Amino acid sequence: MSKKVAFIGLGNMGGPMAANLAKKGFAVTAFDLSEAALQNAKEAGCDTTSDPKEAVQGADFVVTMLPSGPIVELVMVKQGLLDAIPSTALIVDCSTVSPDDSRKIAKAASERGLHFIDAPVSGGTAAAAAGTLAFMCGGSAEDFERGKSVLEAMGVNIFHAGDHGAGSVAKVCNNMLLAIHMAGTAEALQMGINNGLDPKVLSEIMLKSSGCNWSLEKYNPVPGVMENVPASKGYQGGFMVNLMLKDLGLAMEAANSSKSSTPMGAMAQSLFSMYRNGGDDRGTMDFSSIIKLFE
Ligand code: NAD
Repeated sequence: MSKKVAFIGLGNMGGPMAANLAKKGFAVTAFDLSEAALQNAKEAGCDTTSDPKEAVQGADFVVTMLPSGPIVELVMVKQGLLDAIPSTALIVDCSTVSPDDSRKIAKAASERGLHFIDAPVSGGTAAAAAGTLAFMCGGSAEDFERGKSVLEAMGVNIFHAGDHGAGSVAKVCNNMLLAIHMAGTAEALQMGINNGLDPKVLSEIMLKSSGCNWSLEKYNPVPGVMENVPASKGYQGGFMVNLMLKDLGLAMEAANSSKSSTPMGAMAQSLFSMYRNGGDDRGTMDFSSIIKLFE
């Protein structure tokens, strides 16, 4: 008999993730506040409900893909979803939240005898649709092994980072580094352009030199250097500046709570804020548009 998944949060990421679960044979019951999101989930083969407590009845897995930690806490704790989840189910929170929020939700679940892993993702909407996300998980080894069966239907690289909250720590470390190397790549390319270099030629040189990094390899921020990246599509689609700022805020929280020095992360946060505050439409543009700050 197919395993039953309750899926809460059917937005840009959760919608295609729930669709992949249904496609791979899970019996998915989906819930979201948005009617349009529920309709899309239905068309993708999920059952839908307007009551999250109904969605979790008899579930083997409860997957959440919500905007923030406070919203996960609202749904799970304050609105009492944890009290409706069967004790045999595994809760898998894929939302990007602070490590402290992940630990708080794990504790609230464990107080009710429930099993929880944090499993934030890397890869964006294209990988969510293709089922090629990376998941970084925090929780016990047993819960991680159990969670893998559902995560493998949505992604390809599935890591166990450590205990509760460790998945969220890995996610904020990764995205802080992404912000730093994108800002640095944009700064270096713009300096080359200002000194008369063709950005395509400079990119080719740096790709084969010690400045090579993911932003240069996969996500060049100069329009026209690479096809099919947001820079060559007016910085539309991709990963919004607002979401990068949310993740940098979570990184700074994690740095403060662990007394870590993160001067480069703090500088990246400051640069992305300065950039976003310079124009109304910038928050919703792809984060590689940070190069406009250096033009
Ligand atoms: P989104 O805003 O498109 O979707 C969030 C969904 O949650 C919406 O459909 C909304 O209606 C629903 N929702 C909000 N409050 C709810 C509630 N109380 N009950 C039920 N549903 C509720 O966001 P997204 O882009 O899908 O991102 C989801 C999470 O994934 C975020 O934590 C984000 O940081 C993370 N993430 C996003 C990307 C990306 O590229 N978009 C990449 C990696 C991680």
